Amino acid sequence: MAATPPVEHTLLIQGLHAEVGGKEILKGVDLELHTGELTAMMGPNGSGKSTLAYALMGHPKYKVTSGTVKLDGKDLLALTVDQRARAGLFLGFQYPQEVSGLSLSKFLWTSYMQRHTAENANVEKFGKDLNSNLALLGMDESFLKRSLNEGFSGGEKKRTEVLQMATLDPVFAILDEPDSGLDIDAVKAVGDTVAQLQNPGVGILVITHYQRILKFVKPHRVYVMVDGAVALSGGRELAEELEAKGYDWVKVGLAPPA
Ligand code: ADP
Ligand code: MG
Repeated sequence: MAATPPVEHTLLIQGLHAEVGGKEILKGVDLELHTGELTAMMGPNGSGKSTLAYALMGHPKYKVTSGTVKLDGKDLLALTVDQRARAGLFLGFQYPQEVSGLSLSKFLWTSYMQRHTAENANVEKFGKDLNSNLALLGMDESFLKRSLNEGFSGGEKKRTEVLQMATLDPVFAILDEPDSGLDIDAVKAVGDTVAQLQNPGVGILVITHYQRILKFVKPHRVYVMVDGAVALSGGRELAEELEAKGYDWVKVGLAPPA
């Protein structure tokens, strides 16, 4: 019997406006994500990339003022943050928080249980997958006993975000600058792991300022955010063009410099 192909899921963002601290940051974002695809969102600092990530996840400070976000046709914005997470939305933070007194292993197991029912949660599989993901990320098992992110280096925090993504098995995963502040070996470990986690059941949005992680994860599509809206889109080659030519020409809406 042929294996049933996984159901395709869609996250459709239309005309999204959002404000933070009373200031409009997102000014009409249109974006469509599909499972089985890896999408890159690039753009200069301050263009609203993290604001988009927070607005999608439901951060209370980032208020959506108009526009729609539909997960398979259902209104994502009507859901609370935990409902969004249970529906399969995942956000890997640009700046992960330290949580003293909560061990990484307890955190991962507790969140895993929220994504699985008592029937399909499997402690042996959880442990096996956890160990292989730790190895992939080049992380020592001793991290599991430590408090979440407490005293972790920048690179260790970013690896831990990807470890959470691996554990939670999301339908849509947003990784906000998983590569920023990392040395080249850490970028490779994070990039290779994200590439391994790609499968037909997950849609991944990698937010990044630089092109370098895109050597390890191959985006199907590249979008560029400028001043709160998608200004440009293209294939993989667009990322390389931006690396070589910078963002200034996109900001002012010119043709790329030769
Ligand atoms: P990016 O991730 O593309 O660098 P951000 O979404 O972080 O951009 O920021 C976009 C703009 O929103 C910036 O001008 C930033 O200062 C502002 N901003 C973001 N978060 C807050 C906040 N909590 N309070 C006030 N302004 C904010
Ligand atoms: Mg950001």
